[in-house]
Amino acid sequence: MEMLKMTMKDIEDYLKFSKTVIIPAGSIEEHSQALPLGTDTLTAEALAIEVGKRTTRVVAPVISSGNCNSVTFDFPGTLSISPTNLINFLVDYITSLYRHGFQRFLFVNGHGGNIAPIRCAIDAVSPTFRSSRFSVGSWWLFEELKELYDNAGHAGRGEVSIMLYLYPELVKKELFSEEHRTIPHYYVSNDLSKTEITKSGIINDSQNGTRDLGKRIFEEACQAYIRLLQELES
Ligand SMILES: [Zn+2]
Repeated sequence: MEMLKMTMKDIEDYLKFSKTVIIPAGSIEEHSQALPLGTDTLTAEALAIEVGKRTTRVVAPVISSGNCNSVTFDFPGTLSISPTNLINFLVDYITSLYRHGFQRFLFVNGHGGNIAPIRCAIDAVSPTFRSSRFSVGSWWLFEELKELYDNAGHAGRGEVSIMLYLYPELVKKELFSEEHRTIPHYYVSNDLSKTEITKSGIINDSQNGTRDLGKRIFEEACQAYIRLLQELES
């Protein structure tokens, strides 16, 4: 059930049997020349909606822009919400949900730069939220996906595969890049991003994904989120 398509009466009725809300969060960020800017957002939204369908839980509107203040910031089309603004936005967002009666919050996160702001927002509200629980799942970090995903990088095989499965019409296969660089362990500022890290916009991986791998990753991630949700509600 997508909140965007529900009425206030629907929410009122839903809260009588469940206090859970699923919150997808992504980014608008370069994903090489072959994948759309919304790859993280489209993936998180699709996962959240599928988990919501299978569990009959409400899915809040996707948080479509995230924090991209590091490596990808300079590439055309990348939008970035600074960490502080994102934390404040998230605090307002979940406070609104809490005021209406939601007490179980499952974040379906599709973007690495959102992990710390989500955590900070939860830390900011948790002392004042009563009887509430929060869970944050960043799908590519799930233990269950370790083998399948195999540490695939930004705009690499894993994301290519998922987009071939979810939105094949948005993947420009003819623009796949062979560039293969490994991200260094040190943190970088924007002036280094294009020259030092990546020219193609890919980090850590090749783009040899397949629709079948995307389907398997998507299914495993759905099941991992359902387990998180069950734990959250137990
Ligand atoms: Zn991504």
